[in-house]
Amino acid sequence: MVVLFVEESRSTIMSPLHSVQRDGIEMDTAAGHAASIARIEPGPFWCPFGAFGLGPFGHKDPVFNKEVKRDMAAWKGIVGKSYTSDEFDAYCHTLHWSAWRPSFIVLHNTGAPSLAQRPDGLTGKHIQNLEAFYRDTQKWSAGPHLFIDDRQIWVFTPLTVSGVHSPSWNSVSIGIEMLGDYDTEAFDSGRGLAVRKHTVSAIATLSAVLGLDAGTMKIHREDPKTTHACPGKHVRKLEVIQDVQDLIEARHHGAHLTHPDP
Ligand SMILES: [Zn+2]
Repeated sequence: MVVLFVEESRSTIMSPLHSVQRDGIEMDTAAGHAASIARIEPGPFWCPFGAFGLGPFGHKDPVFNKEVKRDMAAWKGIVGKSYTSDEFDAYCHTLHWSAWRPSFIVLHNTGAPSLAQRPDGLTGKHIQNLEAFYRDTQKWSAGPHLFIDDRQIWVFTPLTVSGVHSPSWNSVSIGIEMLGDYDTEAFDSGRGLAVRKHTVSAIATLSAVLGLDAGTMKIHREDPKTTHACPGKHVRKLEVIQDVQDLIEARHHGAHLTHPDP
């Protein structure tokens, strides 16, 4: 696969493979900014650093540099709005995935900032800072699709276009970032549980709207091109999937209750 990707990087054809490669380059080159990123609010996130992965590309390659420059201008924009779980469900039912359609969902946690570092969750200002971080500092074309905290679901990269969050899967997946460091913060009580409930609801909605099997969800650490353990160990994939399946079942049951037999 690596050889194939390198060949793609020398092509100007905007194929899906090229798209994968483009985001891979963005992630690889972003490693060089790590020192400056560390001083910028609200980063650095544990996640994006893990996303650098096993970039097989040399920074001195002139073709590589040309590719990066072209992509720097290709920021896809953000939605920048927050929703309750119910509002998010209604919002997703208005969307159409005609140009791009994801095949599964990838779950992340922000690590830094942690829940403790964001006592009031993520504000509109934080989201603006995140856009600047991904667009201007990382120079990526996009970020994750959702940021979810204990209060709300923020839509970041539009759900109808591909994002940048997990090097192997950017072109085929929705990326969800949960606020928190779940290596140290609880995911089954307090604010972490609230994040979990919002996340489960969002995944249930996306699974239903997109016709995805909730069991296909992945966690970032499963990406073979990622070295970081994201999300933290308290996030157990099979438990999250079970939560999602239970909620889908409950919603289905609720739908029947609203239409009782005469
Ligand atoms: Zn991650």
